[in-house]
Amino acid sequence: MRKTGPARIVRPRDLSEAVRLVAEGGRPLAGGTDLFVRLRREVEDPPFLVYLGELPELQGIELREDGAVVGAAVTHAKLLRSEVAERLPILRLALSTIGAPAIREMGTLAGNVANASPAGDGLIPLYLLEARVLLAGPQGERELPVEEFVLGPGKTALKEGEIIRSLFLPFPEGEPRSYFRKVGRRRALLIAVASLGGLVWLQDGVVEQARLALGSVAPTVLRPREVEQELVGKPLDPQVLAPLAEKLSQLVQPITDLRASASYRREVAGKLLLDLAVSLAG
Ligand SMILES: Cc1cc2nc3c(=O)[nH]c(=O)nc-3n(C[C@H](O)[C@H](O)[C@H](O)COP(=O)(O)OP(=O)(O)OC[C@H]3O[C@@H](n4cnc5c(N)ncnc54)[C@H](O)[C@@H]3O)c2cc1C
Repeated sequence: MRKTGPARIVRPRDLSEAVRLVAEGGRPLAGGTDLFVRLRREVEDPPFLVYLGELPELQGIELREDGAVVGAAVTHAKLLRSEVAERLPILRLALSTIGAPAIREMGTLAGNVANASPAGDGLIPLYLLEARVLLAGPQGERELPVEEFVLGPGKTALKEGEIIRSLFLPFPEGEPRSYFRKVGRRRALLIAVASLGGLVWLQDGVVEQARLALGSVAPTVLRPREVEQELVGKPLDPQVLAPLAEKLSQLVQPITDLRASASYRREVAGKLLLDLAVSLAG
């Protein structure tokens, strides 16, 4: 039981004050859609919370020639309404499945990343785009590829006092087709039992390049690079890809939990690849 009542929320004036407060033991708070659930369940008991949602340095969405810089306080809904979502259909497809409209109005992509859930839907487009995470901390700023930032379920490379300042989402070359699907047990507020995102570059009906990212089938979102390589040169024909779907099922490392068994997750992972083929072939 919490002895001191609800955690106190501190509102820093700027980024450097936020970093100082987090270094003193404060817990970063953005939309609170994950954190408040954890606090209510008393999974955690931080001494105080550092509200990042109003920091001017974390608000912006900046379009560059090679990609977009998304401030850590930008909500899913704001991002979905922005030009970035138009430029990156994979981002739009994934973010629009997060929770419900109220959750998307409050929750942030940076919060989704910091949460490091293998079921984090926002992580799938970030892995596919090979996004980078810009961190601000007592020692200054540094940048990490998202795959190096997420270390395991709920585990990140954040060092003491560090916060996510922004995310850099590179615009992919050419015009890849985008696919995202998550399978779960409830239609609304669906937490993925397994999910697959894909960027596929096609040339004359044959795969020229492919990137795949799977959610909820390993300790982190997974890029099955062997399967991506083997897709190259093949048509998006479910019959041709059936052995690859089988390979993908064997490659994932799912667990059994309350939502699904490991063997069901394996099966779904393979089926999702075939679904990708059917969806993107047209
Ligand atoms: C009903 C419901 C449905 C949901 N559905 C989905 C879903 O479909 N898909 C999905 O992926 N998620 C879902 N979520 C989870 C959640 O909404 C998302 O993960 C959201 O993106 C979290 O962002 P937030 O801003 O609310 O994070 P917060 O709750 O504020 O923070 C989450 C974690 O990130 C840390 N943090 C936040 N910002 C920073 C920062 N800038 N730097 C360092 N650390 C930071 C916090 O300390 C905390 O540990 C759902 C949640 C609820 C309550």
